[in-house]
Parts: sequence; structure tokens; C-alpha cells
Amino acid sequence: MLTSITPRKVALLGSTGSIGSNTLNVLRQHPDLFELVSISCGSSLDAFVKQIEEFNPKTVSVSTESLAVQLEQKLKSRISFSNLPKIYFGIEGHTECISETKPDVVISAMMGTHGLLATLKAAELGVQIIGIANKEILVMAGPFVTKAVDEKKTKLIPVDSEHSAIFQALMGNDLSEVKTIWLTGSGGPFRTRELSSFSKITKAEALKHPNWAMGAKITIDSATMMNKGLEFIEAIRLFDLPSEKVKIIVHPESIVHSMVEYCDGSFMAQLGISDMRIPISLALHYPKRLPLQLGKELNLVEIGALHFENPDFKKFPCLALAIQAEKIGAQGSIVLNAANEMAVDRFLKDSIDFMDIPLLVEEALSDFQSSRVENLGDVMALDEEVKAWATVWKRDLGLGRRNASSRATISL
Ligand code: MG
Repeated sequence: MLTSITPRKVALLGSTGSIGSNTLNVLRQHPDLFELVSISCGSSLDAFVKQIEEFNPKTVSVSTESLAVQLEQKLKSRISFSNLPKIYFGIEGHTECISETKPDVVISAMMGTHGLLATLKAAELGVQIIGIANKEILVMAGPFVTKAVDEKKTKLIPVDSEHSAIFQALMGNDLSEVKTIWLTGSGGPFRTRELSSFSKITKAEALKHPNWAMGAKITIDSATMMNKGLEFIEAIRLFDLPSEKVKIIVHPESIVHSMVEYCDGSFMAQLGISDMRIPISLALHYPKRLPLQLGKELNLVEIGALHFENPDFKKFPCLALAIQAEKIGAQGSIVLNAANEMAVDRFLKDSIDFMDIPLLVEEALSDFQSSRVENLGDVMALDEEVKAWATVWKRDLGLGRRNASSRATISL
């Protein structure tokens, strides 16, 4: 049992991203309640070194061996030998960090397959709480993750503002009494822009989110509304509800983070300012809430009015593609996620246009819809195959396209 006397041991996968730095901010506010025992990052070494100096974790890991060597050199020149953490690298390294330190809580905010495998390992090891911030993990491999956490009775707590809101609105209630989950979305920076000018959307415009400061990938996903599409699938996986019970509603102020409508007509909603430290702190300290210094309070009188509207599927075809992908089955979600990840990467590198993102994803869904996914190896293989396909995709030229009918018995 977790007690309030002993500090909770926390491992943080993905410490240098937006969720990672917000998590560290919460830990900094409550040093008596938490001990950061392990941190992992991809490749942002300078920020990582500062975090290690400040929090003195027992184990650390980075993505590659050469980064681990560089990290060791940097740390040796700044930290006394007795305080040096054990340094690991790669997927095995990330999982070793967790096995060795046996944390009570793992915050899973690392992108890609490294994050997925380390999170699954945490579940297998029976970590008591996993705060899941990387929605791609649930979109790609939701059934494998939920099976692993169920077997060990790990509590999976969403660290996504909408899903944390739903999680909170479900507290003390029965899932069988849920009529509809209303997943709110701000509509992103192009909600009111004319569809006719969407083809001229620039990278700088797409990187400006009206309400949230986040990493580049999720900011572009918000601009295409693919983020809401991924969150639609995430909600179905997390709460084990049929897709008909999850609906998307646009709410430009981003104050109501989502709502649950019950069979008696009651709506339960969670409101708050746009600050990820709120859902992070709930995962860290669950089932209790933590006092937080946010530097800002929600002032509803100042806001004055809250607005809601239906999503525009013409402007944001990625939303419809996500709904379609979920209907296809497990492989649909994997293809959608992988194709979108590459499309966003290519858009950020000026290799494709904004409106090419849904085109690329749509063609991927069509070409890979017959793929079979029976185990985790299949998930990884399909993810890699779609990404390789998307790397060479070209609009109108059919490059990268493969004959869907020849793919009926793909064996991975
Ligand atoms: Mg969200």
C-alpha cells in the first residue's frame, strides 16, 4: 500500500519534453512527497544534465550508446563521483532504469516505441501507478497496455487534459450509467479560418496554438485536429467504451476539459486553466489532490462565456480519418498514428504541405487496411512499414503507394 509518510518513488520517462518539465515542476513544489529515482530522455543532453544535477536520480537513460558516453563525460565534469547516477541507454536501458529503482509511479511521456516498451515493462513489473501522457502508446497498442496493467492491477491514470477530466468525472460513478463522453477540443488555430485558404497555411501559423504551449508534434496535431482524433481513440481504449458513446465537441476557450453525460441527463465536467500540471499532479498523488502553485487561477467571471460548437469535418478531415481508423480495428489505429507521425515530421521539415497531411494518412489507411495485428511484434512491424511508406509518399504521383489487394495476407 502507498502511504503518505514515505515519499513516493517516481520514474519519469521523457523528462526533457513539455510533460517532463511540467512533472519536474510539480515534484519541485512537493519535495517531501516525492523522490525522483529515475529519469530518461531521448537526446536533449544539456537540459538532461541540469535535471540530473538538480534531482540526483539513481538511474538515468538516453536513447543511444554514444549519447550515454557523452552524458557520462558531461556529468563527470560537474558531479562528484559518489553522486553519479547509473547511466543506461536504449530500450533495454529505459526498462532497466525502472526494474532497478522499483518506482511507485511511472510518468510515461516518452515518444515512440521506446516509450511504449518501457511503459509495458513498468506494467509487467507491477508498478502501482502509471501516468500515461503519451497518447500514441494507447492508440498503437492500447489492448496490450490495458491487458498488462489489468494483470498486475496497476492503476493507469491519463495525463492528457481531456482524459484526466473524463477520469475525474467518472470517479464514484458506474461506467454502465454513462450515456456519452463529450471530448472537448479548442478547434486549434484554424477553427475560424476560411477553408479556401487552408492550402496556404504555413508552418509558423500551424505552430501557434491559441490556448496551450506544447511540443511541435502535438501542436501540429492540434492544428489539423488529428490530436482530437487520436484522443477519440485514446478515450475508447482507456475507458473501454464503444465508439458510439464518445463524441467530439469544439469548445474554443479550453476551460471545460471534457464531460461525461449520464443516463439520467446529468453532465459531470472538469474545468480548469490550461495547465498540464493539474492532470500530472493527480497521477503523481492519486487518489489525493495536491495543492499547486500555478501562477494563475480560473476566473469564470473574467471569461464571461463558454462556447460549444460541432466540429467541422470538411476543414479537419483528420478527425473523420481517426473515426474511420478506429472502425477498421487495431491495425487502423496503428496505420493512422504512424502515417500521421511521418506526415507531421515531413510538414515540419517543409517536405509536404499542411493539406497533404490528411491526404497521406488517408492513402495509408486505404493501402494498409488489411494488415493483421495479433501481437506486439506485429504492432512494431506495421508501425515501421507504414513509416517507411510515408517517407517516400508523394502527392498525386502515387509514390509509396502499394496495391491494397496484394496486401490482404500481410504477415509481420
Ligand atoms: Mg489533450
